[in-house]
Amino acid sequence: MKVLVINAGSSSLKYQLIDVSSKEVLAKGLCDRIGIEGSILKHTKSGGDPVIHEVSLPNHKVAIKEVINALLDKEIGVISDVSEIDAVGHRVVHGGEKFHYSVLIDENVMQALKDCIELAPLHNPPNIIGIEACKNILPDTPMVAVFDTAFHQTMPKHAYLYALPYDVYEKYGVRKYGFHGTSHKYVSERAAEMLGKPLEQLKIITCHLGNGASICAVSGGKSMDTSMGFTPLAGLAMGTRSGTIDPAVISYLMDKEKMSIKDINDYLNKQSGVLGISGVSSDFRDIQAAAEAGNERAALAIEIFCYRVKKYIGEYAAVMGGVDAVVFTAGIGENNPLVREKSVAGLEYMGIEIDLEKNQVKGKELDISKPSAKVRTLVIPTNEELAIAKETVAILSK
Ligand code: ADP
Repeated sequence: MKVLVINAGSSSLKYQLIDVSSKEVLAKGLCDRIGIEGSILKHTKSGGDPVIHEVSLPNHKVAIKEVINALLDKEIGVISDVSEIDAVGHRVVHGGEKFHYSVLIDENVMQALKDCIELAPLHNPPNIIGIEACKNILPDTPMVAVFDTAFHQTMPKHAYLYALPYDVYEKYGVRKYGFHGTSHKYVSERAAEMLGKPLEQLKIITCHLGNGASICAVSGGKSMDTSMGFTPLAGLAMGTRSGTIDPAVISYLMDKEKMSIKDINDYLNKQSGVLGISGVSSDFRDIQAAAEAGNERAALAIEIFCYRVKKYIGEYAAVMGGVDAVVFTAGIGENNPLVREKSVAGLEYMGIEIDLEKNQVKGKELDISKPSAKVRTLVIPTNEELAIAKETVAILSK
């Protein structure tokens, strides 16, 4: 079965055409600067080099049309008719409390997605526009929505409620939702396969450390708690996001710096995190290079990042009453030995011990624990697109 996976942002749209049975990515690409001057389509056919087309992409509908044209193209294409696309899987950021699982998209689902816009004003509108554009061009192809939040709907109420007056939960749905669910689910399932044990019997802490970063306590295959919250701003220090801070800092800074709501939101989402601390970059490669060259604030940014990862590992072991495996995934988790080493340093008393040589691995699945370690530490590259494609097939075969 060939599934087209679509991840639509406000001015970009990423896609992959995946053959789910062979797990092969037949083609992938990106429409960038949609609705902005200088838009491009970057398309890569399996085994080929990326091809960049400068095309006018005034909106998402035109972008999807160009994607289909690229997939059908004689030279760079991989299909000869749109009917070869069996289904489309859409990444949707926020499913609120309505969606505990992925769903086949129909009119009711579209309405429910629109009802969730208030919860994710930045992310859900482009996701919805992407779905509508796709439905327009592929009216007969079944489409499935896969939510970043759905996996975390198993969290118990005491984990997801904030200590605010209860009525803000009832009135506005203010609670922890959690994100990166597709990735936490995918790597926890892979971890069980690697360990050769049933997922139902395992307590796993999954660390999705990318530009956006979150940690999840997965017990018996279910999310019990996670570090992101009502929005992806909570939890770990990230590339440019502050993560959790004392909420009183917000009104204090708004007052001192005469900031508006938009200003403070930009400040916490785009100028903070390891970028804000280091003053160097949001990218760990740049930060690490600066730290090695003697930049103390860059070294401090790495220290703060890893300290928080370690605190969550301790916290989630407590939440689950133990831990069998810690998984590192996403850009930093898969490729940064220093961050992994620092994040688990001193956790030997919990049974977490890594082999420093194995820890040099980048971008490959590997158990990096010492043979004697009670807790397995695993590096598992995430694959959200494949996970979305598999979910899509699973929903359609129901
Ligand atoms: P996003 O949340 O945008 O998907 P990624 O998962 O791509 O982010 O993670 C970006 C981070 O991963 C950057 O800080 C970068 O330093 C790191 N990273 C990505 N690829 C590599 C690599 N091959 N080697 C070292 N670090 C990497």
